[in-house]
Amino acid sequence: MRIIGLIGGMSWESSAEYYRIINQETNRRLGGVHSAQCLMYSVDFEGIKRLQHEGDWDRLAEAMKDAATRLERGGADFIVLCTNTMHRLANAIEAAVGIPLLHIADPTAEKIKAAGFQRVGLLGTAFTMEQDFYKGRLQQHHGLDVIVPEESDRRVVHEIIYKELVLGRIVPESRKAYREIIVRLIERGAECIILGCTEIMLLVSDEDSAVPLFDTTTIHAVAAVDEALKGE
Ligand code: GLU
Repeated sequence: MRIIGLIGGMSWESSAEYYRIINQETNRRLGGVHSAQCLMYSVDFEGIKRLQHEGDWDRLAEAMKDAATRLERGGADFIVLCTNTMHRLANAIEAAVGIPLLHIADPTAEKIKAAGFQRVGLLGTAFTMEQDFYKGRLQQHHGLDVIVPEESDRRVVHEIIYKELVLGRIVPESRKAYREIIVRLIERGAECIILGCTEIMLLVSDEDSAVPLFDTTTIHAVAAVDEALKGE
């Protein structure tokens, strides 16, 4: 079994989900009392959130490179960055270490294509919904059409993530707001929805959507197990 190196803490609420899913999936496949061999370096999210909102991606790159280097030194065989947003810095991380990064968008897109969908609605932080690093990868590497909510809906999705979900606060009115936003994406032609922020699965589940949901936390964590058990 290869050793999974997790960069966590963004937020720890979703990192805990990664840890749970990775261990449960490993046990499901191997039986007995098997569990995953993994390391997690978990950051203090307060400083990360501040730098994100200040747009200081250079300092964020340093923080992510530092985290990846620590995991490599600790013996990780590959890196799993437990957040969609920070994949903006995927290239910087890849350049800083000699071990591969399992990009969250790739197994997500593979699953969507395997299910036969083309036009996807994307929910995530404003960074993920508005900048090109994520949509661009889905479009250019995987040939998907990506639509995001209108501006006012994007603000709602973003605020709920940073004010509630990263603190583990589950608010029924926020679930209702997400449901309505999903309806509007479907009206604009979304055949499925990417939960493109690793905390959204804490709030929204299949019954909240008339079209299939692709939860990046679960997909990424299971892909990490695939990678760890390759050749076993
Ligand atoms: N976990 C979130 C994501 O998947 C947002 C927190 C962060 O800014 O990293 O994008």
